[in-house]
Amino acid sequence: MSGGGDATVFAPSPRVLLPVVGDRRRFPVRHIHCVGRNYADHVREMGADPDREPPVFFAKPAHAAVGGRTAFDVSYPPRTGQLEHEVELVVAVGPGSRVFGYAVGIDLTRRDLQAEAKAHGGPWEAAKAFSQSAPVGPIRPAGDRLESGRIHLAVNGRTRQDGDLAAMTWSVDEILDHLAADGAVAPGDLVFTGTPAGVGPVRPGDVMTAGIGGLDQISVTMTERHGP
Ligand code: MN
Repeated sequence: MSGGGDATVFAPSPRVLLPVVGDRRRFPVRHIHCVGRNYADHVREMGADPDREPPVFFAKPAHAAVGGRTAFDVSYPPRTGQLEHEVELVVAVGPGSRVFGYAVGIDLTRRDLQAEAKAHGGPWEAAKAFSQSAPVGPIRPAGDRLESGRIHLAVNGRTRQDGDLAAMTWSVDEILDHLAADGAVAPGDLVFTGTPAGVGPVRPGDVMTAGIGGLDQISVTMTERHGP
């Protein structure tokens, strides 16, 4: 072995850094955990039984996070005719696997590819983990629990999703305990905690506005489609 030290064969991709409200420093994103089926009304609208289908975990790569501001654009992804919005409370994890803060996020989903994956028992990666699939607002620091509050999303001014955090099957604490028991959580992680009913399609040019309780509302514009 020659002594290459920390030299890399090409420039490493930059780490995603999200703004923190009231702080000039930024939040370094390590990984994105997502919880599926965490609101009974959404489980039902997807055709499943919330009493028989417990919440599930899946992941997005850190580079799927986009935004960090209150208004920003997101590219409409390729390979789908059914891109859908899921508004979610995002937990930003700090040292000691404790809550550092919260933000409003949207778990963008290529629903047609998810249906295909479900039909074959295959992984959800193509449906969930594409580039810019995790729009997220500024992170608001908060050490305490956030267990209730209105969670809502509108497309072009029309309300599509309107629920309450109190309806989550697994609380923020329970989700973090579960991830910690798996040895899966570390500072810099974001956790998308699931979506209430009302998910639906977005098209190029659509503007999604999403809010949760006292967190900063976000306005996300879908730009034109790139690629096939
Ligand atoms: Mn989701």
